[in-house]
Amino acid sequence: MDRFSEPEGMHHEGYCIRPPSEADSILLQVTLGCSHNRCTFCGSYADKRFRIKEEAIIESDLRWAARHLAAEDRLFLMDGDALIIPQKRLLWILERIREHLPRVNRIGAYANVKSIRKKTPEELAALRALGLGILYLGVETGDDTVREAIGKGSTAAVCLEAGRQVKAAEIKLSVTVLLGIAGREASLRHARATGELLSAMDPDFVGALTVMLIPGTPLYEDWRSGRFVLPDEVGMLKELREMIAHTDLSRGYFFANHASNYLPVKVKFPGGGERALALIDAALRGEVGLKPEWLRAL
Ligand code: SF4
Repeated sequence: MDRFSEPEGMHHEGYCIRPPSEADSILLQVTLGCSHNRCTFCGSYADKRFRIKEEAIIESDLRWAARHLAAEDRLFLMDGDALIIPQKRLLWILERIREHLPRVNRIGAYANVKSIRKKTPEELAALRALGLGILYLGVETGDDTVREAIGKGSTAAVCLEAGRQVKAAEIKLSVTVLLGIAGREASLRHARATGELLSAMDPDFVGALTVMLIPGTPLYEDWRSGRFVLPDEVGMLKELREMIAHTDLSRGYFFANHASNYLPVKVKFPGGGERALALIDAALRGEVGLKPEWLRAL
């Protein structure tokens, strides 16, 4: 037995985060934290220094999963941006998944603009061929002033290119955007620019989350000191309305039904935008109840 072959379970370190749609997936932790770790609103990996986990640990976790989770067909690579792993090592991981878990037919991972841009089209295609079926990208906003302010580390144009690279490799693209991230003043400008970026990128799934202020983050400090002012409930809804009004996907879903949102909205494109706008208008007229504040964090 090697030192990582203990049978109790997988070696998950720290607080583990995965997209809601990966709730039933095998969670294989191949990195710790996020290599970027500079977004001002994000407290996800504050406790973790980024590193790629050792091959022996990954292999041990796969052996454990093969014994206990062999029937599962989806697997998610944690943590923050597994795509940043150098190609050779990432191919090795995907090959080991095939070997140990032959039933897995879709592998997902978080990505960021940098990790996508580091891969060539051929490298993304090779990952796709070995089962990488979906990437989750935090777009947050299409407004360059806001992108700069929140430390995204790339312009909307570069983010668009990254999204297109994923699509060109025939890997499904799921993106998140953040309601409220531009503050009150720039709310509608952010909504329009984000809708336009989404339309140009044309992802398969969009999740619009309402920004949560997390103690310890720079955004939280800005909010406490009054430098950052969140839109109120009505402002958030108007922002969501403006974003949907400027979004047009060839074939995809726009969800704004995360627990942090005031009004659950699901839009199927093409064609579903008008119904969603009518629902939001009804909510703005007070005809549909909004989620009370205490329920939002659930
Ligand atoms: S890239 Fe994502 S995980 Fe990393 S700091 Fe930004 S929001 Fe957080």
